[in-house]
Amino acid sequence: MRYPEREQSAQLFEEAKTYFPGGVNSPVRAFKSVDGPPLFIKKGTGAKIFCEDNNEYIDFCGSWGPLILGHDHPIVRRAIIEAVSNGTSFGAPTRKGNLLGSLIVDNHRYLDQIRFVSSGTEAVMSAIRLARGYTGKNKILKFEGCYHGHVDSLLVKAGSGLATFGVSSSAGIPQGFIEETLVLPLDREDLVAEYMKNDNDIAAIIIEPIPANNGLLLQRPAYLSTLRNLCSEHNCLLIFDEVISGFRVGFEGAAGLYGIKPDLLTFGKIIGGGLPVGAFGGRREIMQHISPEGDVYQAGTLSANPVAMAAGFATLSHLLKDTFYTTLESKTTLFVENVRTGIGQNKLPMQIIQQGSIFWLNLSLDEVRRADQIDGEGMEKFKKLHHFLLKNGVYLGPSGYEVGFISEAHDEETLQQASKVIVQGLSYAFNVNT
Ligand SMILES: *Cc1c(COP(=O)(O)O)cnc(C)c1O
Repeated sequence: MRYPEREQSAQLFEEAKTYFPGGVNSPVRAFKSVDGPPLFIKKGTGAKIFCEDNNEYIDFCGSWGPLILGHDHPIVRRAIIEAVSNGTSFGAPTRKGNLLGSLIVDNHRYLDQIRFVSSGTEAVMSAIRLARGYTGKNKILKFEGCYHGHVDSLLVKAGSGLATFGVSSSAGIPQGFIEETLVLPLDREDLVAEYMKNDNDIAAIIIEPIPANNGLLLQRPAYLSTLRNLCSEHNCLLIFDEVISGFRVGFEGAAGLYGIKPDLLTFGKIIGGGLPVGAFGGRREIMQHISPEGDVYQAGTLSANPVAMAAGFATLSHLLKDTFYTTLESKTTLFVENVRTGIGQNKLPMQIIQQGSIFWLNLSLDEVRRADQIDGEGMEKFKKLHHFLLKNGVYLGPSGYEVGFISEAHDEETLQQASKVIVQGLSYAFNVNT
């Protein structure tokens, strides 16, 4: 296949391969699961991005979630410029750090204290160390289909069989780390209960309360509350990894949405308003174990740097406006309903799933709550869909396992247009296969 509309991108990608393994600095960017070279993006404004070949796309990736206000929002841009003009980093406390810290803690009922880091991975890594330090236990229980960044001990997936010790999902992970990580399928509280009963060395259960890195695997609230209860019974911490769901499905994320209080929460993506920020936080009594208060070491040269704090503050203040989330959600619902109507009219054997301003095209009719229920055959169709969408000005994350994000900048007209193109693309993807 040729990609005449991606000539510049193709050339830049070839050049990039000289300098970066696989031509990228994060693997999914290489477009391995879809056709053609990755787009090199030159500019973004509002709901649109522009590639080096000067094509324009409606963007549903939003930098993988952070850009809930869209690209180059004026209030975020102004905050960044104002901060930059006073210097970019001091390795010392700043008022801007206090501002973002208080904005978050004062508006989140489950956070007494937080600490800023520079990525979601770092947030998770630190939260896990804290859970181990606090409980004096060693093991972590995670779930197949949840992603928690590239922390060594969490790059572990389920082995064969329903309930086993995991196997590493990357080379370079010591066997000893793998043995400290238990992996279970989602949606099976019976298995969690059984494991907890038999092993009193579990420091924490970590879960994406709204798993959105492997399709959108919406969990039953009752399942999440059972996890909460099991953790309390067994003196083990519940960690909600809200790197995607935090500030996305509401200011208080999934914890607020379901009214479930985790012991620790991790954040990333939206919290930095498009700049590199992560954070972990929770109950004061637990957070006091972090250095310099406590004996769990954690640090960062660029942590809470004033430019990132300013971008986060500008973004998060905007989210606290009264109607922000209701407007965003109803806009998304309208878009999802349009796509759903098209799916029905064309009798496509698939569904679109939504939670707040997150959506996922499930290219099968099966209800999915667990990773193993996703139909791998749908991914071939996704390739065709993705190619069609790029030709027609719509940009989705380059894998059928990725969700889409709607931002404040996606207006109804843009969404209407996008839903039309997506339905056409889906019909194309399904037809050529039959
Ligand atoms: C993106 C993500 C991470 C990792 O964050 P990075 O900033 O990419 O390190 C961790 N957990 C979840 C749930 C994520 O979606």
